[in-house]
Amino acid sequence: MVGEFDFIARHFRPLAGEGAMELRNDGATMSLPEGEELVLSSDTMVEGLHFLPDDPARTVAQKLLRCNLSDLAAMGSSPRHYMLNVSVPVGRHYDEAWFAEFAAGLAEDQERFGITLLGGDTTGSPSPLMLNVTILGAVRRGETLRRDGGRPGDGVWVTGTLGRAALGLQVRLGKIDASPDGILVQSYRIPSPRVGLSLYGIVSAAMDISDGLVQDCGHIAEESGTAITLFEEALPLSAEVKAYLPDWRETILLGGDDYELLLTCPVEQEEALQTHCRAHAVPVTKIGKVTEGQGVTMLDKNHEPIRFTRTGWQHF
Ligand SMILES: [Mg+2]
Repeated sequence: MVGEFDFIARHFRPLAGEGAMELRNDGATMSLPEGEELVLSSDTMVEGLHFLPDDPARTVAQKLLRCNLSDLAAMGSSPRHYMLNVSVPVGRHYDEAWFAEFAAGLAEDQERFGITLLGGDTTGSPSPLMLNVTILGAVRRGETLRRDGGRPGDGVWVTGTLGRAALGLQVRLGKIDASPDGILVQSYRIPSPRVGLSLYGIVSAAMDISDGLVQDCGHIAEESGTAITLFEEALPLSAEVKAYLPDWRETILLGGDDYELLLTCPVEQEEALQTHCRAHAVPVTKIGKVTEGQGVTMLDKNHEPIRFTRTGWQHF
């Protein structure tokens, strides 16, 4: 990229925080309070795969940060800083104006979530626009949430509602006729990561839903060495999602891009879970149970297993 240093100075230096040394050195520093440990997570978004070339730069920036923030939320960690890597395709519409808007989106969410930029890299690229964030958070030593703690008898819980983002993508792809500025597309473009909850000691396993409810339940089931049964009737679907249920059932049930937390919780902690979530104004719903065995089954309202033609988002 021509004038890489100017480019970084203009767009990214204003985002740099403590330890970044104004992005003027080869690296950055970060310190943690006594008794805390670092939690790191990384997420890449590729134009055409994770966002569309005509998505607003501001929401692309916010989705990039929020996917990463959601991973930290799933680990029970509070976010501190992030590293940003940008590969810009040559000769495309990703110009000064686009990156000014992109940086404004980052700045807005830095403020909202209390994080700052620590460093990163920019390059030109023959490929589509590629954006990568590595996020750094802190947690009290040994108190990360994990995927492997689900036990038979635990309930399966989910925050928020499901299916909006998956339908929003279909709107963006022109397969569903709905408002391009409506709640479905908004949910696809700007997830609401559940940072700020303190669920250590309450839930037995946690992860965030990025690839779809059933597939992601499969990860908890596998890591925990258990099976999971979900109840279609129990899923938290908002009215605008329910309206599409007759035609788009599989899209809604298999979902993707929700960035809600998927939790398993021992029965004796259910009240604590609900009380904690209520105190943070986060809806939480019991949608299934952990059992002996393996795999994920979703039962319909007649308690018959639903047969899906796929499992969820496939990365490869
Ligand atoms: Mg994740």
